[in-house]
Amino acid sequence: MKREGLLIVLSGPSGCGKGTLVGEMLKRGDCAVSVSATTREPRTGEADGVSYHFLSRAEFEQYIAEDKLLEYAEYCGNYYGTLREEVNALRAAGKHVILEIDVQGALQIRERCPGAVLIFTLPPTIAELQRRLKKRGTETDEIIARRIAQAEKELPFAQQYDYILLNDALEDAVKDFESIIRAANMRPYYSVKKIGEMIEDVKTFYVSDHCEE
Ligand code: 5GP
Repeated sequence: MKREGLLIVLSGPSGCGKGTLVGEMLKRGDCAVSVSATTREPRTGEADGVSYHFLSRAEFEQYIAEDKLLEYAEYCGNYYGTLREEVNALRAAGKHVILEIDVQGALQIRERCPGAVLIFTLPPTIAELQRRLKKRGTETDEIIARRIAQAEKELPFAQQYDYILLNDALEDAVKDFESIIRAANMRPYYSVKKIGEMIEDVKTFYVSDHCEE
């Protein structure tokens, strides 16, 4: 049986390059993203079921009622949530599942999934964040201003994450992300089964050793 993949939460201000970073991680083959559900309007180029599962508010609230969401939050006036089944299936297949979610969702994951690895991404500067949001060209100035204001609210939560990942040069950020995965894989939480087997093994070894004397 395959070892269960890690559950990795990636948060950080909108526009700090999380999407690009995740795109690079997906090239590794052992990582996957869970497609979230949202009630926000699709941006140009976004496809349903690929970027997000785009739902109406009524549909989203039905998902909440049916406990289909591992976590959910309201962000800038829209619902966003992670589909429990999707995450479980990917992890069972051995994939490290990356959740690109906001801080409210991340803190719910921390409560509900003790082994989860929480990463907070930082842009090099706030001026650079604004520049990246403008360059994206998909949002109005008003939405950009809302997202910067949201960053001000989210940044203090960075202290509660396991790792801070500075996203300046992309290739360095990718290397740092890979190091986090390597380190997280070595957490005792992910070796409970192996350690349990060794404890059983060492007992047998000890008994048979003494019996022979
Ligand atoms: P955007 O509208 O730019 O795609 O996403 C806005 C924010 O919602 C981002 O901070 C993103 O990380 C967050 N987000 C996306 N999917 C989810 C989700 O499933 N759950 C939560 N809690 N936040 C999400």
